[in-house]
Amino acid sequence: MTSDSPGPVGSSRDLAAWFLAYLVAAAAGHVISAFVMSPLPLSLSAGVALAAALTAGTRIWPAIMGAAFLLLVFAVRDAGSGPVMLVLASLGGAAGITLGATTAAGVVRRLVKDETPFGRISDYLVYVGFGAILSGLIAGSIVTACFGVAGLNDHYVGVWRSWLVADLLGAMTFTPVILVWLAAPDGDMPRNKMLEAALLTAVIGLLSLVALGPLSEFVGPVASHPLILALPLAWGALRFGDRGTASWVLVVSLLAIWGTGAGYSAFNTGAAENPLQAVQFMIFVVAGTTFMIRALSGAQQSIERELVEANQRLGARVNERTQALKESEERRGNLTTTDDLTGASNRSYFLEMSKMEFYRARRYQRPLAVIMIDGDRFKSINDTHGHAVGDLVLRELTHTCQNVLRASDIFGRIGGEEFAATLPDTGAEGATEVAERLRQAVEDSEVQIEDGAVKMTISIGVAVISDETIEYENLLKHADDALYRAKEGGRNMVVAHQP
Ligand code: GH3
Ligand code: MG
Ligand code: MG
Repeated sequence: MTSDSPGPVGSSRDLAAWFLAYLVAAAAGHVISAFVMSPLPLSLSAGVALAAALTAGTRIWPAIMGAAFLLLVFAVRDAGSGPVMLVLASLGGAAGITLGATTAAGVVRRLVKDETPFGRISDYLVYVGFGAILSGLIAGSIVTACFGVAGLNDHYVGVWRSWLVADLLGAMTFTPVILVWLAAPDGDMPRNKMLEAALLTAVIGLLSLVALGPLSEFVGPVASHPLILALPLAWGALRFGDRGTASWVLVVSLLAIWGTGAGYSAFNTGAAENPLQAVQFMIFVVAGTTFMIRALSGAQQSIERELVEANQRLGARVNERTQALKESEERRGNLTTTDDLTGASNRSYFLEMSKMEFYRARRYQRPLAVIMIDGDRFKSINDTHGHAVGDLVLRELTHTCQNVLRASDIFGRIGGEEFAATLPDTGAEGATEVAERLRQAVEDSEVQIEDGAVKMTISIGVAVISDETIEYENLLKHADDALYRAKEGGRNMVVAHQP
């Protein structure tokens, strides 16, 4: 509910608005009361007082007190006591009404954190117990006492009871209407729901006329039982939010009072000594039940909403985690297959892939070649330009080799400045050609550094699969032997293994 802003008195606009609202409600009550020829069994102005204190806080007291004072003076203007006594009694009574509304609202606002106290059963019970009943009790008791002292009461209990019940019912039927229409709407209503609301209003109006108004004569006492209103009200409470519930409860309550006052409703034909007291009881039960149904369905809806939101949060979280897992798996996967420095396959992955190709070649009697590559005098590159430039050159070498080789060839870094390639479906002649192209490409390439360009060369040993190469390692050994001879032969050359 709205919180107090600082200062003991509300803004003048708020004060004026609530002051006027109270007087208008009191006047409306007076008109209805004249119409039903009985004191109104439901205090609209008490409903306004509680709504004012709930929305605007304690600071609204001057508006309630001022308006209530005028109302009381008007109500007792013809009583026998002198004018001073009337004014004093009205002042005391107005203070009682103000105290009742502000105290009750203070308790409700403390216990209910939602904007309106109708969204939860517990909130609603707090509202009826500490809002409606407490405000009626305080106001009724103080007004009765003040009027008693002033000699305006004939019988205390009767007056006290009628104040208490009328205030209670005003708080149960009119305050909710004010609060929920002041509160933010639940959201735009779709067209077909608006049609449903209109239809429901018509049904409630019609059934009210049947149960409580002139149409009762046509349908007989059973069909015109007020209980029939339970159905459309429950429908409204289940299908429409606080606004629908509060509005229809108020409409039914006023129609019940009017129908009974005008002598139509079932309450006139029953044993009730005072039909309007029977109507009061009906309003109490109807309002309480309908709002409780509303609170139940509201709670269920908010649980469903929370469930949907929780599901969405969970879904988003799962997606997030799955993505993170995928990325980390990708990183791990790369770590286990790729050489950090050059991005070429690392030694173990190269061997694993090469062995697969080796066994396939043996099984299908296909040719297969291995090329061993070693950087020439690489140590001197490091020594001359530094290790970082050496790294750069190794990357460039990888790049050059990958450009020359086919996608189906397997290329990897065996260690240091040593690389190897396994060439499926390639014989001695083809492999030597590829090796020569590699050698040439590396010789032609260079790495640009700040003070010029760094060049390098490679020596290559070539070996191809034969009946003697039982294992892939044999083939590697043959290529390594050939490489050794290339180094011996003066480097920057290709030597093929001779079986
Ligand atoms: P050659 O093979 O022609 O006989 O001479 P070399 O200088 O290349 O001889 P060797 O194989 O003994 O030396 C290899 C050098 O490669 C040693 C090391 O400094 C360098 N090296 C190995 N791995 C890396 C590396 O990851 N980064 C850099 N910058 N240098 C490396
Ligand atoms: Mg070397
Ligand atoms: Mg080496």
